Amino acid sequence: MREAEGRAETTEKKTLEGRRAVVTGGASGIGAACVRAFAAAGATITVADLNEEAAKALADEVGGTAWVADLSGTAALDDLELETDILVNNAGIQRSAPVEEFVPVNWRFIQRLMLEASFHLCRAALPGMYERGFGRIINISSIRGLIASPYKSAYITAKHGLQGLTKTLALEGAEQGVTAYCIAPSYVRTPLVERQIADQARINGISEDDVLEKIMLANSPIKRLVEPDEVGSLAVWLASDNSGMVTGPT
Ligand code: NAD
Repeated sequence: MREAEGRAETTEKKTLEGRRAVVTGGASGIGAACVRAFAAAGATITVADLNEEAAKALADEVGGTAWVADLSGTAALDDLELETDILVNNAGIQRSAPVEEFVPVNWRFIQRLMLEASFHLCRAALPGMYERGFGRIINISSIRGLIASPYKSAYITAKHGLQGLTKTLALEGAEQGVTAYCIAPSYVRTPLVERQIADQARINGISEDDVLEKIMLANSPIKRLVEPDEVGSLAVWLASDNSGMVTGPT
């Protein structure tokens, strides 16, 4: 009996076996959690990231490939062709300043990296997805893709744009087996957020614990940071065959 159970376990197909996944910003934080979760579910991974050392180390860890690129260089993406079943548009940064002080070059950089590059990668991946009748586009938006806050105009604009792009992708891909979905978390425990906590503590002259409790989580029903693995686990489900009826909304 035990032997038979063992056999069943080893022959069971993993959720993402046979699938290829590209994860942008895959070398850190949420992207790295998606990479590890996808790999554990059987997918073959491309870690796309600016950080060469971290991208290669993680690609080696999961038996995947590193694609070292500055994805803000969108002109280089015009003629890109991307053979993948799953695309996670995740690479992102944060810069804060009031609109009248926002440095234009920073504003444009954020639009290119977080919105335009996502369009280019989808554009490059869709023909193959349509041909095979299967595709999963997972865009990592944010609560800031739904609700604004002061001083983050570039990030908020890019994330709202990503929501619009995702809804359009969902409509265009629905009859062709391609779904598109935004994951829109609040604060996730990653280097990006750890930097923000330290900055806020310094600016407001309060402790990091107070930053979390009184500023970041004040309006959140869940009074803790989200863990990257929790996002990775949702991404695995969204990337799977089981999620075919979920497309468009956040
Ligand atoms: P992170 O800083 O841990 O990781 C971001 C990754 O993007 C890094 O590996 C970095 O090297 C890569 N990257 C940065 N610029 C790049 C470029 N020009 N080209 C290619 N790669 C580049 O950040 P994170 O917190 O994991 O954030 C990932 C995504 O999740 C972002 O889009 C962010 O907006 C979103 N998000 C984060 C949170 C959060 O609380 N951490 C909440 C909601 C949404």
